[in-house]
Amino acid sequence: MADFTQNRSVFIRIFFIAIPVIIIIRLLFLQVFGAGGFKEAAQGQAIYQKKIYPPRGVIYDRKNQVLMNNNIVYDLVVEPRKIKSDFDTLFLCKLLNIPTIEFAAAFKKQLNKYGPGVKNLTLFKNMSPTTVARLQENIYEFQGVDLIEHSERNFNYQCGGTIMGYINEINEAQLKKERYADYEKGDYIGITGIENTYEDVLRGQAGVQFLLRDVKQRIQGPYKNGTLDSMPVPGKSLQLYVDAKLQKLTESMLANKLGSAVAIDPQTGGILAFASGPSFDPALLTGPNKGRNISKMFFDATIPLFNRAIQANYPPGSTFKPITALVALDEGVITPSFGYPCGGGYYACGRKIGCTHSGGGHARDLAWAIANSCNSYFCHIFRLSIDAPKYGNTHIGLEKWHHYMNEFGLGHPVGIDIPNESGGNIPDSNYYNKTYNHVWNSCNMSIMGMGQGEVLLTPLQMANSMCIIANKGFYYLPHFVKSIGGDSLHTKLKPYHERHVVAKIPDSAYFYVAYGMQRVVEAGTGKIAQIPGIDVCGKTGTAQNERFINGKKIKLQNHSMFVAFAPRDTPRIAVAVCIENSGYGATWAGPIASLMIEQYLKDTIAPKRQGLLKKMQNAKIIPNYIYLLDSLEKQKAREREMLKRAPTDSMKRVQALKDSLQRHQDSVAVLNYIRRTYMRKPTKPN
Ligand SMILES: [Zn+2]
Repeated sequence: MADFTQNRSVFIRIFFIAIPVIIIIRLLFLQVFGAGGFKEAAQGQAIYQKKIYPPRGVIYDRKNQVLMNNNIVYDLVVEPRKIKSDFDTLFLCKLLNIPTIEFAAAFKKQLNKYGPGVKNLTLFKNMSPTTVARLQENIYEFQGVDLIEHSERNFNYQCGGTIMGYINEINEAQLKKERYADYEKGDYIGITGIENTYEDVLRGQAGVQFLLRDVKQRIQGPYKNGTLDSMPVPGKSLQLYVDAKLQKLTESMLANKLGSAVAIDPQTGGILAFASGPSFDPALLTGPNKGRNISKMFFDATIPLFNRAIQANYPPGSTFKPITALVALDEGVITPSFGYPCGGGYYACGRKIGCTHSGGGHARDLAWAIANSCNSYFCHIFRLSIDAPKYGNTHIGLEKWHHYMNEFGLGHPVGIDIPNESGGNIPDSNYYNKTYNHVWNSCNMSIMGMGQGEVLLTPLQMANSMCIIANKGFYYLPHFVKSIGGDSLHTKLKPYHERHVVAKIPDSAYFYVAYGMQRVVEAGTGKIAQIPGIDVCGKTGTAQNERFINGKKIKLQNHSMFVAFAPRDTPRIAVAVCIENSGYGATWAGPIASLMIEQYLKDTIAPKRQGLLKKMQNAKIIPNYIYLLDSLEKQKAREREMLKRAPTDSMKRVQALKDSLQRHQDSVAVLNYIRRTYMRKPTKPN
């Protein structure tokens, strides 16, 4: 009993001491430290955490011209859980200058997308300054509604849409990716181009602002005088190798054409200009109508967002001949004085491969053969290379040739610093074993020596192979970014500083090939590319396109190609230009390439070449069948969709649709061929 009494008195004593201590500590926190928001809660106030987005990194050209900076824009964000029954939708819609039905639709759409448990919904993006001004005055009236500031991109120099790409709010699928582990809903990310590759350095670091709100949601001011706030850290700037003036000029010449143009500094691998036709106003990739613009361009018959410079695979045609020559020289199957008695065609494989020249001696040695672009010569020396007696077997000879091509950066993506690069196609002996059931020889593929047949290259690969010839045997991975935040040795740029040596071909081989390419411009098929005072080495190409459809050979218009580098002795620029369906290389691609070289090396276009420039800028070279076949393909897709949805009992209707599909078959086959030959299907923007 005594023990119990004693225990009880100890307990009571502890109780009476402990409780006041707890109360004192609580009061201290509430009144002195004010932690946990109790003080404010007690006064009907609330602490509001506002995410402060930093400006994305500014992008400069090689001469520090601002190519891309930011505009401050606002998104209207709603927290559904905070919306009360007395929410004045009508007034908010009046401020937004939209009908209530539009507001309700936007709300419903977002809610359906993210579910009722979502913390916040972005209802309207990139709102106009007038709307924002109206809203800012009255935003406190609406509990659960806020304006979130972030930066929207601004193409300061009105060029480079294909290079930069665009940014967008991160979506659900992207949020699940490991790459975006530290992102949250409402954040913006780079979707394509440099914006995507350099996302981690461009984005910067968000800050947080703690604000006090009263019961009416009015912002009372910073919480604790902003001492808990963290400042946003702006994204790092990028300097590109791109020359803004050259870039703009190049884009202007690709207007209303399908094709692309790439210019690289061979000494660094830095990309000086990079455009895909049809070129478009980059402002379409920013602002409140961005989504609509992108979707429109995606479904346009000419697919402006399809980056032809790195995604389109073309037969390189005669622009490939310098590479055929280098391999033959390195293999020792020809010398520079080797000639071929071409009389207008190559007959050694039992069928005629035509040559545009028939005059005696037009292929009397390597330089003449390059200058006159003799088909017979290059089919022949390609065969000599893969039939070289030292290999004893054409299969081994072809594998050796395949290895050369890989060293030249062909048959696989080169490794440019923007996403979705295609690798082109370089066939190997496995391909021919499958195609010809193991029975084949060099005659089955002789036209590859002149850049036809199975060989497919991207314009980037063509430009890079010009860098290799300009440098006499090495290249740096083509890339856009020169420095990150002023640091040219940034770890992200390390892969681009590595020199890739190609197949150890001797300098003399490059010397003779370059000499032949100089003759092309001085006296051969590429005279249009002459620039006074500059030794330009170039090569024309006209890639043929034929297709069997239901037994009929259909010939489509040729691609016009041109590759070049200049000046010959200390090359500073290497160029590849392809204009689809436009005819001879010297007609369109040659002039465009030479104007690019002139602009870069002389920083201007000579008065007497202004007429040529205007001609290139004003020409509209998109054949009508591109639109026709595109609409047929879309119609076919629509009908397929209807067929899928048709009830099983309406067989008559199904049959009618099947007939309709059949009618389009031939045309669509042509279109599919065009798509396959000229381009890979673009990946849908995500
Ligand atoms: Zn010939």
